[in-house]
Amino acid sequence: MKTRAAVLYEMGMPRPYAESKPLKIKEIELDPPDREEVLIQIKAVGLCHSDLSVINGSRPRVMPMALGHEAAGIVAGLGEGVTDLQIGDHIVCAFVPSCGHCSPCQEGRPALCELGARANNEGTLLSGQRRLHHNGGEIHHHLGVSGFADYAVVDQHSLVKVDPSLSFDEVAVFGCAVMTGVGAVVNTAHIEAGSTVAVIGLGGVGLSALLGARVAGAARMIAVDINPDKLALAKSMGATDTFDSREPDVIDQIRAATNGGVDYAFETAGAVPALDVAYRITRRGGTTVTSGLPHPTQQLSLSPVSLTAEERTLKGSYIGSCIPSRDIPRYISLYKQGQLPVNRLLTDRISLDQINEGFDRLDRGEAARIVVIL
Ligand SMILES: [Zn+2]
Ligand SMILES: [Zn+2]
Repeated sequence: MKTRAAVLYEMGMPRPYAESKPLKIKEIELDPPDREEVLIQIKAVGLCHSDLSVINGSRPRVMPMALGHEAAGIVAGLGEGVTDLQIGDHIVCAFVPSCGHCSPCQEGRPALCELGARANNEGTLLSGQRRLHHNGGEIHHHLGVSGFADYAVVDQHSLVKVDPSLSFDEVAVFGCAVMTGVGAVVNTAHIEAGSTVAVIGLGGVGLSALLGARVAGAARMIAVDINPDKLALAKSMGATDTFDSREPDVIDQIRAATNGGVDYAFETAGAVPALDVAYRITRRGGTTVTSGLPHPTQQLSLSPVSLTAEERTLKGSYIGSCIPSRDIPRYISLYKQGQLPVNRLLTDRISLDQINEGFDRLDRGEAARIVVIL
């Protein structure tokens, strides 16, 4: 069948993207679902910083690639061997498919699935195959999803069935921003009730981390960003203190305001200077968690003696160390109870044709979550 999709042919094109148009909306061919694969009709898909990182080249991927991974939609066709889903089910995509039998999967850490990582690096589905073509050439899948499209074929292990009473734009953000942000707090860091927490970088992931800290019982939640509008948004979502990271003495200010630093600092900006701030504002014995994905050549400089003499912990968190089939339904039930109001992240709703302009807004740090409605 044919589907519209947003295809990236070249990374690192100049800004503004509204003019250079790195994403081309093309009518491409989509093969039917093979064994254990599913045809989905996409209804809503978020613009995430990791899509932007492929567009600007800081997360290099094989080209051409149909982007988009924070997607929600409806099951529209089933390949052989799919037993857990029915046509018409509402689903959210998880952006690492998990095979279920490699070592990380067996340890209950599907975010680290070895086959899933290989498929994502090579731009294929979990099977190692591609189902997208255009003019006789193959188009690579983005994180097993390629959701900036009317339809996609994905592995069944990329899908989580969700409550159909929620709108698609509400649930789409659970696939990336919410799992990554909330999961970093409750799965990776396991914060204690009464903790002091700081979040550096208030995009969709950072604001989700803030909501996660609130639901997990943090007593103090410090929001740090360069954008005053986002600091105000964070305050309205429960941040107890806000700091402008453009101020040269921001580290001293936060350390002074917290008696020497926070128990947990979460870096969600994907920038090494932000991780440096996160590390420096963590107290003796505290934990710094990073969910950012800076360019692979970027290096962090830190004094290892601080790890030893101050018993510090520095942890990475990928997809919030989540088990998507367990955690997406959990976070959705917290949302339905009003405890995790992630609909507050949805600042803009756009059409597929406006996608390059949407990435300009994300790039300028003007929006928390922009969702394409299909
Ligand atoms: Zn994402
Ligand atoms: Zn695996």
